[in-house]
Amino acid sequence: MDLTNLEAVIGLEVHIQLNTEAKAFAPESAKYTNIPNQHISPVSLALPGTLPVMNKMQIEKAIRLGLALDCEINQRNYFDRKNYFYADLPKGYQITQDSDPVCLGGKFTLENGKTIRLHHIHMEEDAGKSVHDISPDYSMLDYNRAGVPLLEMVTEPDFRNGDEVEEFINTLRRLVRYLDVSDGVMQEGSMRCDVNLSLREKGSDVLNTRCEIKNINSASNAKKAVEQEFKRQLKLLKKGEEIKQSTLDFNLKTQKLTVIRVKENAHDYRYFPEPDLPPIIISDDWIESVKSNMGRLPQSYFHQLTTEYDLSEYDATILIEYKDIADLTLSLIQESNIDPKSIANFIVNKYLPDVKTGTDDLLEYPLSQEGILEFLTLIESKKITVSSAYQNLLPHLLEQPHKTAKQVMEEMDLAQDFDLTALKSIILDILDQNPDELKKYQNGKKNLFGFFMGEIMKATKGKSNPKEAKKELMEILNTRNG
Ligand code: ADP
Ligand code: MG
Repeated sequence: MDLTNLEAVIGLEVHIQLNTEAKAFAPESAKYTNIPNQHISPVSLALPGTLPVMNKMQIEKAIRLGLALDCEINQRNYFDRKNYFYADLPKGYQITQDSDPVCLGGKFTLENGKTIRLHHIHMEEDAGKSVHDISPDYSMLDYNRAGVPLLEMVTEPDFRNGDEVEEFINTLRRLVRYLDVSDGVMQEGSMRCDVNLSLREKGSDVLNTRCEIKNINSASNAKKAVEQEFKRQLKLLKKGEEIKQSTLDFNLKTQKLTVIRVKENAHDYRYFPEPDLPPIIISDDWIESVKSNMGRLPQSYFHQLTTEYDLSEYDATILIEYKDIADLTLSLIQESNIDPKSIANFIVNKYLPDVKTGTDDLLEYPLSQEGILEFLTLIESKKITVSSAYQNLLPHLLEQPHKTAKQVMEEMDLAQDFDLTALKSIILDILDQNPDELKKYQNGKKNLFGFFMGEIMKATKGKSNPKEAKKELMEILNTRNG
């Protein structure tokens, strides 16, 4: 291999935790809770005599994601048992899909136009959680997560670098939220991914031995893991060693990779069809009804915001991150005559920073949609200057959201109340009061313009429109010059 001309070959396995009410095969809540063993039942504890029952919502959400990604819906598929022993798996097997998954193929287009092919999407259940750091003598088991429904998406090895991987994960996360398939909160484990990576000479199409990095919990960590694994394999090759198929762990705290095991031979999971569940038959009608209830996807909002309302791609990308925000932006634009750009500015610079928390939950904003429109209308109709509206009015309005923007503006005496004649005479006064500065300005010291503007703003207590004031000042100075 020519070690100076290598490329990375990367495939992902992404686990998406579904936001269904109930677990995959049991009635208890599938929601996250930090109190251990709250969401359990005889089924998820695998007590003797219990049987699994299918959850229609798991199948429906799988179909929804599959349709959004151009997969073929496998209209007759079934669950399998994957047998292995582990303390967090009380049944001794995981119910999953092996040879006949619910969605086949599919594709995903990156921003640069490149297509990532999907291999399939299958349904499965999660395992419980072993906790090793509470007691020095025992491992603890928390079965809240046991039986929570998951989708696993497996891509073809079509990625070539960490940026493509990062973009894919971020875009997929947004898509599953839009589709109401998952809450997509990666910090809580709602989306985890395994990164498979091998190296080869650029332009070749061989698939060399790969290594797998397990359980990565964010798009940016996936990118870092890709970059480090590339370097690690390259270093081994340079030393003349061969790459052995291994499993690695990406440590969140140290941000470093460690090899946890080298695969000697493949696991034998003794897969066989799950005998306690019937095959899943998906009718044409069901597919049609899922299709017609899918709702708008991010790209459709993006297109409308950038073409119909002429917003920049930068703004539009921020505005479509959350469906609620995209909907709010559109309805503010459509229900008013306010310039879409001012609405976008408000949402991007004021609204989002206030409603965004550390996680993906959005906080409530103090102002209703109507309240926001009132505020923006005051600016649009030049009742108040932009800077005064944002610096003086908005902070007070947010503290008293029961009042209208106009009320607060009047109480604070912020209205822009200088008409043009008044403004002109104020400017003339200022020039008269500062004859030395005026002379210097006329003799070429043009940066005194800022000084006059400052005086005007002082005299009008910030209530004059800076643009208008600038225009008037310029005109008066020009006539004085001539
Ligand atoms: P397994 O069944 O052993 O998990 P798969 O064939 O399902 O293996 O592949 C798992 C993931 O690894 C897929 O995302 C696939 O694209 C990726 N992959 C397979 N071969 C390679 C390779 N040589 N280099 C990089 N990624 C690979
Ligand atoms: Mg696999």
